[in-house]
Amino acid sequence: MRRSNLTVFFIVIAVLGLVVFAALYFSHQQKIDKDVNTELTGKDGQAVIIQPEKALEMLKAGNRRYASGNRLKDPGVGREARRMLLKGQTPFATILACSDSRFPPELFFDAGLGQLFVVRNAGNQLYSDTLGSIEYAALHSTSRLIVVMGHQSCGAVTAAVKLLRQPENGATPALNSIVCTLIPAVLIAGKKDLNISEDQLIDDAVKENVRMVCRAILQSSEPIRKMSAAGKLKIVGAYADLDSGKIEFFQP
Ligand SMILES: [Zn+2]
Repeated sequence: MRRSNLTVFFIVIAVLGLVVFAALYFSHQQKIDKDVNTELTGKDGQAVIIQPEKALEMLKAGNRRYASGNRLKDPGVGREARRMLLKGQTPFATILACSDSRFPPELFFDAGLGQLFVVRNAGNQLYSDTLGSIEYAALHSTSRLIVVMGHQSCGAVTAAVKLLRQPENGATPALNSIVCTLIPAVLIAGKKDLNISEDQLIDDAVKENVRMVCRAILQSSEPIRKMSAAGKLKIVGAYADLDSGKIEFFQP
């Protein structure tokens, strides 16, 4: 074979190899997307209840994808997903999270439409209407896992720390109401170690607030308490880290 023919031959082989590799890669990605979505809706497209332990594994897997930069090509956010959800939602987890714009739960858990029932307010606190939303998801939807999620450098918790150190803050009554609700968590976190830095105190108070809210959900809601005691529902705490994108789960 002449030299120019050999070059053409190798270029053709290389291009064919690339095409085969790309086809295999995209079919693998599509299979992952399909498997995740099938788990949520069942093979016949009907809503299924995902048990708490399984739901927690799904959240962990979604966060691993997000933190490692390997998000699903299509987690179910387009026209087809919307069409499938016309008859109702089938969330597999309920997330009580802070309103902070840097921590959208759907992105951190690499989830699509209809998969997470999300309740948000500044400082991920438990108000009466917050509890009502959480109860709705537990009693009238497919979600059997409740996650209370705090996060790194929370502005609401930071404001509570600063309010304790400098009570004259000039905030509005509504803002002060949010911040004052967080003060018990700051006091408990501060009592554990009086010499910690302000950043560490804020971090500890964020986690303490999560633990307090988890316990308050159980104390305030009889149906959720009963479901939890029967092993039909689980409440876990979580902490989202902005540096790594990772979410740490812990028992309240
Ligand atoms: Zn926050």
